[in-house]
Formats: sequence, structure tokens, C-alpha cells
Amino acid sequence: MSQQLHQLHSLERDLVRAIAKNEFFVQIQPQVSTEDFRVAGGETLIRWRHPEHGLVSPMQFIDVAERNGFIDEIGLWITNKTVQTLESLDSQGAHQLRLSFNVSPRQFLGVRTAGWAMLLRDYAQDNPELMHRLEIEITESTVIHDQSLAQHMLAEFKDLGLRIALDDFGTSYSSLSQIMELPLDVLKLDQSLIQDIEYNLRSRIMVKHLANMAHDLGLEIVAEGVETAPQIELCRELDCDFIRGHALHRPLDPASFLAAVNADIHH
Ligand code: C2E
Ligand code: CA
Ligand code: CA
Repeated sequence: MSQQLHQLHSLERDLVRAIAKNEFFVQIQPQVSTEDFRVAGGETLIRWRHPEHGLVSPMQFIDVAERNGFIDEIGLWITNKTVQTLESLDSQGAHQLRLSFNVSPRQFLGVRTAGWAMLLRDYAQDNPELMHRLEIEITESTVIHDQSLAQHMLAEFKDLGLRIALDDFGTSYSSLSQIMELPLDVLKLDQSLIQDIEYNLRSRIMVKHLANMAHDLGLEIVAEGVETAPQIELCRELDCDFIRGHALHRPLDPASFLAAVNADIHH
């Protein structure tokens, strides 16, 4: 067996045990409004502290989990964690905050029977108000894979009160008309569109037009991967509603996230 293959197998094996061994934890990256630069919400991002390899990036293990089917377990874990975090923030006075979480393409394919989707239905019955502040992030590849499933299930989630965001927008070549048939609330512009807006007129034009289009369709627009002060200013000028990225906040543990929210409120 090649070394790479061996490493992959051991990663797979360790991944399956990671939940039981409590190796996953969550960080939340704040999302800031361009109107008042306050934290309006955040996105939960899964983290894996591997006993030997240290922190393993989700970029490495989400793919593996999608291939071996373990993504359902991870999906259930992160959904639960996100709702619990939202409940806890709410009980600590953060009543306006929204939280979003990622659903990967293969994870979405099992949506009809998956544990994470059932959990959302249960939570919606227990606490329907909270659902309005919960957001599911899907990507274009999820939509392209099975348009009618996406259409149908997203409508069901909307009925539960959830918001729907299209993540990594601008990275694939799906048809706009296909996407716009979905019951979306938010377009999240991928960082590849943001990273050169200081130097590239075309990128600025793109962002401006996408923001106009989103607003005309009644959607909000989020700029991702904002890394510099000029990018913050440009995103605001180009009419993005929210921004997020290292120039504002890195992903934080839940307590630091709450501190960032409270720091805003008290200023
Ligand atoms: P994403 O959903 O697009 O999340 C944004 C990623 O960009 C995060 O990386 C975040 O830490 C990073 N980021 C935020 N601001 C900046 C910035 O200013 N500059 C740069 N260069 N990067 C920035 P992370 O946490 O490593 O996650 C990578 C991807 O893994 C996510 O991309 C998402 O697709 C996936 N992922 C993360 N958590 C989960 C999860 O709980 N479930 C699923 N299914 N996928 C997840
Ligand atoms: Ca995301
Ligand atoms: Ca993204």
C-alpha cells in the first residue's frame, strides 16, 4: 500500500472514532453588517483536534467523510452544535444573532432521511422562533446534482422557518436561472471575487452587479474572505450587506464570539 493511501485509510478510521472520542469542536466566525459594522451573526465551522496530527482542516476531512458516508454523522453533530450554540447565545442575551452552518453536497443528497434534517424538524417544533435565526449554507454543486431534490427540500426547510444561503457563489458555472428558482435568502460571494477588488475594476463591477441583482431579487449579499481595510470599505461601497473575513474577525470559540458581540453592544 502506498504511504498516501495508508494515511488516507488511517484518517478515515480515526474520523469514524472522532465523535465518540470528543475530538471535534466548533468555532464561529462573525459576520459584520456594513451599515454599522456590528456583528450580526456568525457561521459555525467544524474543527478536528487529532491526537497525533493536531488540528486537521475541514478541507481535508470533509471530502473523506463525504466519500465514506460518515458525513451524515458529522452533519448531525454540527447541526446539533449550531442549534445548541444559538440557544445558549440567546439565553445570554444575544437575541438578534443569526447562525449559519454548512451542508456539503453528499450530505444534502441524504436529506430526506438524514438525522440532521430530522433534528431540525424536531427543533422547529420545540422552538419555532429560533428557526428564523438559523441558516443552512449549501453550494451550487448541491443544486446542480439534483435540482428537484434541492427545490423540494429547501422549500420544506423554509416552511420550518429556516433561512437558506448559497455559499461560495461565483466559483462554478451553474446557470443563474437554475439557481434563482430556489427559495434563497442570502448569496455569499466567494473570496476569489473579493480578493482583488482593490486592483481589478472587473471584480468591482462583478460584485456591484451581483449585489444589485441580489437586492432586486430580495436577497441579502455577504462578501467572504475580506482580508484588508480597503476591501472592507469597497465591499460597503459596492453594496454588500454583510462582510466577513480575517480583516474583521477570525473564527472564534463560542465564548470569544459572545464577547465580540457584547463588545459591539456596549460601544
Ligand atoms: P466555507 O464554508 O467557505 O468557510 C469559509 C472558510 O474560509 C473557513 O475555512 C474560514 O476559516 C475561512 N476564512 C474566513 N475568513 C477568511 C479570510 O479572510 N481569508 C481566508 N483566506 N480564509 C478565510 P475552514 O474553517 O477551514 O473551512 C473550509 C471549508 O470546509 C468551509 O468553507 C466549508 O466548505 C467546509 N466546512 C467547514 N466546517 C464545516 C461543517 O461543519 N460542515 C461541512 N459540511 N463543511 C464544513
Ligand atoms: Ca460556508
Ligand atoms: Ca464560502
